Amino acid sequence: MIDTRPIGVLCAIPEEIAHFGAHFREFEARESAGYLFRSGTLDGVPVILTECGIGKVNAALVATVLAHEFGARLLLFSGVAGGLDPALGVGDLVIATRLVQHDYGALIEDRIKAYQPGVPPVPGFEGPIGYHTHTDLLDRARTALLGLDLPVLSPKASGGAPRRSALHFGTIVTGDTFVNSESARKRLHLEFDGLAVEMEGAAVAQIAERFGIAFLVVRALSDLAGAESHIDFHAFLHEAAGLAALVVRRLVPAL
Ligand code: SAH
Repeated sequence: MIDTRPIGVLCAIPEEIAHFGAHFREFEARESAGYLFRSGTLDGVPVILTECGIGKVNAALVATVLAHEFGARLLLFSGVAGGLDPALGVGDLVIATRLVQHDYGALIEDRIKAYQPGVPPVPGFEGPIGYHTHTDLLDRARTALLGLDLPVLSPKASGGAPRRSALHFGTIVTGDTFVNSESARKRLHLEFDGLAVEMEGAAVAQIAERFGIAFLVVRALSDLAGAESHIDFHAFLHEAAGLAALVVRRLVPAL
């Protein structure tokens, strides 16, 4: 039987959602909890498109409404992130195989020891951390993206030498802070084997898991989370958000 329930598509900020504009056909817009939930089709596929705002609580709230009020069968996040792995550059894409909340846990000697959300953050409750994307969904994503020619990045994003955006699969870490620090970038990369950091993905994953529905997070790097990340973020936000939306549009008919 074909599942006719819509896909809930989330973006955090207007610059991310803007790239769906021309490809989205709106049937109805409804407000809930002060957010606008726009029902329609994206390239012919039923979706609910929502701008959830920045941070884990906003993302969790919107994810809950999408699952509970709108019966979404899948929560799909499209947006930008900071790069953690030094092998990745601005404009590269990351699809999360695992999402970790790096700021839930115990504060010990000014450093957060991360625990899985909901688990008592005290000794004795250490354990596996993160939310894993369903492997069948990842398989479908990989197949759908085979042969997709990602664009050559702008000279300012590639730093001169022409380079195409590259697609990676791996861990994305999420927390309620914009990472603007080389030492934090290194730590998050080493501690969680993170490829990228953002502020919503693992919250969406937590909610999806509670409702027993699937999630997929697609991010393009707007910055590299280091000391310059606030400058890069603004310089590359538009280009990176467009890349994430491009990949998400390619995925939507296959999910
Ligand atoms: N200074 C920005 C703040 C945006 S917050 C502004 O003026 O608008 C950054 C947004 O992009 C969040 O939604 C987050 O998910 C993502 N993001 C991009 N780079 C990030 C980074 N280095 N650290 C954390 N989140 C980042």
